[in-house]
Amino acid sequence: MRASIVTASLALCSSLRAPSLAPAGSLGASRALAATASYARHTSKLLRPTTPPPPPPPSLSAAELAACADTVSAYLDRCGGKVVLLTGAGISVDSGIPDYRGPKGSYYTNHRPITHDEYVSTKTTAHLQRYWSRSLVGYDRFAMAKPNSAHIAMAELQRAGRFGVSFGSPPSHVSTITQNVDELHQAAGSTHVVNLHGSGHDMVCLSCGEKTKRAAFHERLAAANPALMETIERFDGDPSGDGVEEPELRPDGDADLQGVDVSSMKIEGCRSCGGLLKPDVVFFGAQVPKDDVQLCYDACDAAEGMVVAGSSLTVYSAFRFVRHMLGAGKQVMVVNVGETRADGMEGVIRVNAHVGDVFSELAKRAKSS
Ligand SMILES: [Zn+2]
Repeated sequence: MRASIVTASLALCSSLRAPSLAPAGSLGASRALAATASYARHTSKLLRPTTPPPPPPPSLSAAELAACADTVSAYLDRCGGKVVLLTGAGISVDSGIPDYRGPKGSYYTNHRPITHDEYVSTKTTAHLQRYWSRSLVGYDRFAMAKPNSAHIAMAELQRAGRFGVSFGSPPSHVSTITQNVDELHQAAGSTHVVNLHGSGHDMVCLSCGEKTKRAAFHERLAAANPALMETIERFDGDPSGDGVEEPELRPDGDADLQGVDVSSMKIEGCRSCGGLLKPDVVFFGAQVPKDDVQLCYDACDAAEGMVVAGSSLTVYSAFRFVRHMLGAGKQVMVVNVGETRADGMEGVIRVNAHVGDVFSELAKRAKSS
């Protein structure tokens, strides 16, 4: 199911050279990880929205939707199917995973995701207790999310040969570069997907690099914290019955868990070496592994075009590929509701419409042709 590239964050984490946290098991407050200072310091810019959230998606008539699909379809034809998809959080909103900057984006509800440096901070374990207690609530819902019409249509279009590129020897294949860590493209049947920011379903040890499944880690956390689990389970019941507010899910599987004391929560370490475990995702403030970046640049070079879907392109890790395509004199199609960083750039074609609607229409046409 998963692409060959999801080892991405492993490479990233290996480069941390974090010291072992031994002994194995729960991490005590006195244990410290050497902080790494080798990460890009651009988080402050990323984390503060400077503009109000965009308006909700325009509701298009059938004729308007058909016109949007015509525009994208003509572009795909011009590119002869040699197109790479670049997707962002906007396409997973309909699966119940909120985005950061959409109409209901979590940035506009005072959510600030944890940064890499915060996660590996040596000062206390309070930040890990906050992160993992919230994640115990948020991850279940994150893990249960199902692909929506956009993911399904994109997988159908890939099977119909409408996009995807091959290059190199032996050949590498890339159909989709996604900023999302939910693996919903793969769940819908897409193949050769680059998870640019890793996978929220995997864990990696920052000391020995071992990769494990996040669901198994959650089971260990739950077993180590029975009292906290009792409180958390009440979140899933009647929220008004116990006075505990229903938590709000975050784009990275995090959740808002206010009013719960987590100061005695135990955080489990790596079973092999006792090191600090981290979701295998590129947190804000960290860099995408070089091998993945190169693979995406190679895919861009092999492609005649790129369709950006559901991304405001605010984050440079994705925007650079758009810039790369434009720099090579290729046009880029951007399907998104609301403004994007690429708006107004020479060579960019904009469709301001709901991605699921547009792609479903394209998939319908591909089936009937
Ligand atoms: Zn380890």
